[in-house]
This record gives sequence, structure tokens and C-alpha cells, in this order.
Amino acid sequence: MTLGFEILGTDGAARRGRVTLAHGTVETPAFMPVGTAATVKAMRPESVAETGAEILLGNTYHLMLRPTAERIAELGGLHTFMNWPKPILTDSGGFQVMSLAGRRKIDADGVTFRSHIDGSEHRLTPARSIEIQDLLDADITMAFDECTPHPAEHGTAAESMRLSMRWAKLSRSAFRDRPGYGLFGIVQGSVYDDLRRESVTALTDIGFDGYAIGGLAVGEGQAEMFRVLDVTAPLLPDDRPRYLMGVGKPGDLVGAVQRGVDMFDCVLPSRSGRTGQALTRRGAVNIRNARHMADPRPLDPDCACPACTGYSRAYLHHLSKADEILGPMLLTWHNLHYYQELMAGLRAAIAGQTLDDFAASFAEQQAAGDMPPL
Ligand SMILES: [Zn+2]
Repeated sequence: MTLGFEILGTDGAARRGRVTLAHGTVETPAFMPVGTAATVKAMRPESVAETGAEILLGNTYHLMLRPTAERIAELGGLHTFMNWPKPILTDSGGFQVMSLAGRRKIDADGVTFRSHIDGSEHRLTPARSIEIQDLLDADITMAFDECTPHPAEHGTAAESMRLSMRWAKLSRSAFRDRPGYGLFGIVQGSVYDDLRRESVTALTDIGFDGYAIGGLAVGEGQAEMFRVLDVTAPLLPDDRPRYLMGVGKPGDLVGAVQRGVDMFDCVLPSRSGRTGQALTRRGAVNIRNARHMADPRPLDPDCACPACTGYSRAYLHHLSKADEILGPMLLTWHNLHYYQELMAGLRAAIAGQTLDDFAASFAEQQAAGDMPPL
């Protein structure tokens, strides 16, 4: 017994699906807001749910250091701890510890690293990462892997990918199968087609409940990312969910859905919300720009989020310039709402087999740009 996945419809390579998990169902294609430290920054969990999000991402690295996975388990697991009753996917900690340049040492069995909080020494291995994600009660657990840096020579990328495949096997052995819970393997191999193929074969031989594509959106650019997806996605089993990690911009989501990806996560909508950047159907809008100073119009007149229905651009501009906490709260809400609306649009378009039209109209609106100033 594992998680459930059904495909409700297709349009080209795109899939309209449903993942059934211990804490609820997730309609796919789905976007997962990032709740790094057991919170989506600046948002109450009830508000995150109101945007339409059905699943969140939590970070093993951050939670194992503070407040610790054991503490969260004692308090009833991550869902109870953060008051988010819906599904949660946790990353393995691999990506974060690899980015601790100078503070981590990789060996054949795992990674020893120093905490960014107090410098204390910790160790993550495939078995320990799976144990932590179990303690957190993640609906979807990610295999422990090494995210290959970009750019990487073929030899380096091959060595890194093969280490990840060894760790994938150890992750699978450590994972406790139970109804409604699943373990995803992560395809690596940088931008090299032969390595991506080898990685898919290694993972499907082990057998996972879902498959993630890792090592993208690390600086290779959208065209190269789409090319790697064109090679990789068709190799993955049709009957398992596919998750593109750490992606991305609205246009990345549309293009990846067209290539058969079902799940996404990215800090972009929440992080941008904290720096005055709104992501809209007309592209990115910097609310700190002086042209919004006296503009009584909403950020996006066609958006039903609280920021757009209740407030003017002038007010959002003022909040941001005055460093008021409500500014990031409203912009994060708008950005997450926009992302969920985009995903709902993609799901409806796949169901109606009008995805190409949807993508064309999306691109046209993005290219048209923001409303001209008054
Ligand atoms: Zn809005």
C-alpha cells in the first residue's frame, strides 16, 4: 500500500491527475508553496489553503536543526505542529546541505555538516533523512540525494548521479511503506541525456511511488531545462506522479506541464512577495516602483485575492516603502493565489484539451506586460 495516483485526462504529453495521500487529495498539475521552517512566511496556514494550495513543502534541513524532528514528532507531527491538516511533502535535506559550501563534507555514506544557526555538527545519511521525514509525518518523502552543481563536466555529473542512485537504494530500504504515504526517487544527471537515462533506469529498477526530476533550475536556463525534460519525462513510468523540483517562474510551469510534469515547488512566489515583487498574469510588477505611488487601481483588476480586491497599488506601494509587515503579507497572498489560479487554469485546459490555446494566451498576456501608468 502506498499513495494513490490516477490520471483523469491527458492533452498531448500533459496529464490531469489526482494524488491520494494520508492527509487528503491533491489535484495535479499542482504547485506546492514552500513552508521552510514549518511556516509559509507571512501567511497563516488557513490563508495558504484559501489560495487553493492542497499540499505544502517542508524542509528537512531546517526542521532537523530547529526545533528538531524528534520535538515535532512528540508534538504530533508537522501537520499538527503547524496547523496544516492537508498533505505535506518534505525534501531530503540533500539540496540544502550541499549548498553549505565550506561547512559540509560529503563521503560515500552521507554528509557531515555544521549548522548555519550555531555551528554545531550534524550528519545526514539516506537512512537518517528518511527517519527524519518519518518523524515529521510527511505524506511524501524524498530520497536523499546529491544535487549536482551546475555547470558540471560529464565525469563529475556521472559520479555525482551514481552516488545519488546508491543513496536512492538506501533510502528505499529505510522507508516504511504504509497506506497514503509515498517515497519519491530523484532523477539526476545534469544536462547529459545519457546520464539522465541511466538515472531513470536505476530508479525504476528500485521502484518508487513517484519520480522527481532534480538538478534543474540551477542556472542552465529555461531552454536547456525544457530540453532535459523532453528527454527525461517520456522515460518515466506513466502511472506515477512526476515532480520537477525547485521550479519555477510561471512560464516554466506552463512549459513543464506541457512536457508531462505533475508537481512543482518554488520559493519564488513567497520570496518575491517579501521583496515587493508581484507575479501577475501580465508579468512581474515591482510595487516599489514610483509609478505606483498615486495609482488607485488594484494590482490586477482580474484577480480575486484579498490584495487585489481590497487595496490600491498606491497603498501596496506605501506599505512596501514604509517596510510595513502587511506589505509582504498581501503580496505573498497575491503571488500564491496567482500561482494556484494558474495551476487551476492548466488543469481545466488539460481536461478540456485546450492546453495549447491556454499556453498561447498565457504567453501573449505575459508578453503584453503590466497596465500602463495612469
Ligand atoms: Zn491578487
